[in-house]
Amino acid sequence: MSIQQQVSLRPFNTFGLHVEAENFAAFTNVEELQSLLRHAKEKKWPLFILGGGSNVLLTQDVPGLTLHNQIKGITAIKEDDRYVWVKAGAGEVWHDLVLWTLDRNWGGLENLSLIPGYVGAAPMQNIGAYGVEIKDTFDHLEAVEMATGAVRSFSLEACQFGYRESVFKHELKGQYIITHVVFRLEKEPTTFHTSYGAIQSTLADMALTELSIQAISKAVIRIRQSKLPDPKVLGNAGSFFKNPVIADSRFRSLQKNYPDMPHYPLPDEEVKIPAAWLIEQSGWKGKRVGATGTHVKQPLVLVNYGGATGAEVWQLAQQIQAAVKDAFGIQLEPEVNVW
Ligand code: FAD
Ligand code: NAP
Repeated sequence: MSIQQQVSLRPFNTFGLHVEAENFAAFTNVEELQSLLRHAKEKKWPLFILGGGSNVLLTQDVPGLTLHNQIKGITAIKEDDRYVWVKAGAGEVWHDLVLWTLDRNWGGLENLSLIPGYVGAAPMQNIGAYGVEIKDTFDHLEAVEMATGAVRSFSLEACQFGYRESVFKHELKGQYIITHVVFRLEKEPTTFHTSYGAIQSTLADMALTELSIQAISKAVIRIRQSKLPDPKVLGNAGSFFKNPVIADSRFRSLQKNYPDMPHYPLPDEEVKIPAAWLIEQSGWKGKRVGATGTHVKQPLVLVNYGGATGAEVWQLAQQIQAAVKDAFGIQLEPEVNVW
């Protein structure tokens, strides 16, 4: 068990922000994790768990013990005529898992290509893109309870997945460390999700002879690379806010003043409004404040132009929230986990 002191977390978060972890340890299996949890309990250290750091905004030094998940391994654990169940260690890079499934022509994760981060954080917010969420192929996960070190399995129902939500962001927040995730994938893919956003037109540009999960993945990668800043070049954590969901009646009244307001109807008489549009209309697209700002192509992405602090990014986020609230009466909620 190796624990380092006063470690800069700059290489461990995609905003590229410098804060220090008082103590820092990586773990590669469940036993190592349990032993670190026992040690932290003895020392009365609070715990912080970090995967790829692509969905966190670090605004202050982290006291206690920061745990970095490095549990690796991807294996097919069972199959039937139609499906194969794939188990992945929580410390695997998410996109590596997607590529592994594409190599075997196992379908279900292709629309989620190139999402940064590790497998273990994917259930935290039920990652989603281009009309697919992990809940669509999720079977179960294994997690270690922080207080006791006990291993527990969570079914699809137990995870209570919602739009960028799960039980781990609410009732069980800060209580479990996810160690493995199991997905149920199609062995001979016949389900293709192509109706969303720019996928259809990008596939058309690719002049395919046959639709495949590999082609969908390539289309998604092409769109993402053209629209989103690469965190290695420009620090960011993807969409900073969730797309707000409002009552249909409220939307209709807003629509009277904003007839062009983009919107997507949801069940239960609710409507999703793209947060990017609200931010742009509020005058914040591409705006820079000191070393932070919103991205020129995608205002939902807040960026660190170099040298920003987490507190400055958080201040910018709050200014944007206030501007949107002022203009539309809508409260934007952060998607990124603010520490
Ligand atoms: P981290 O940032 O390390 O952690 C996120 C949260 O989960 C933290 O609260 C952390 O404490 C907790 N956590 C991490 N690992 C574990 C674990 N093993 N057990 C328990 N808790 C844990 N997200 C989408 O949904 N869709 C997208 O299309 C998308 N695109 C993105 C594009 C860019 C350019 C970027 C930078 C981010 C994007 N994201 C997207 C957000 C992010 O990539 C995902 O949320 C990803 O799953 C975060 O993984 P991570 O390992 O980096 O998590
Ligand atoms: P986009 O395609 O320009 O669409 C803008 C917004 O409208 C999206 O956020 C999306 O909501 C919504 N939308 C578009 N078409 C829709 C449809 N047919 N049905 C329902 N909602 C629809 O979005 P983008 O910014 O380029 O992102 C593309 C995809 O990648 C989106 O799914 C987005 O969530 C995901 N993404 C996520 C992050 C992140 O950090 N979370 C970062 C980059 C991209 P949804 O967000 O609900 O899909």
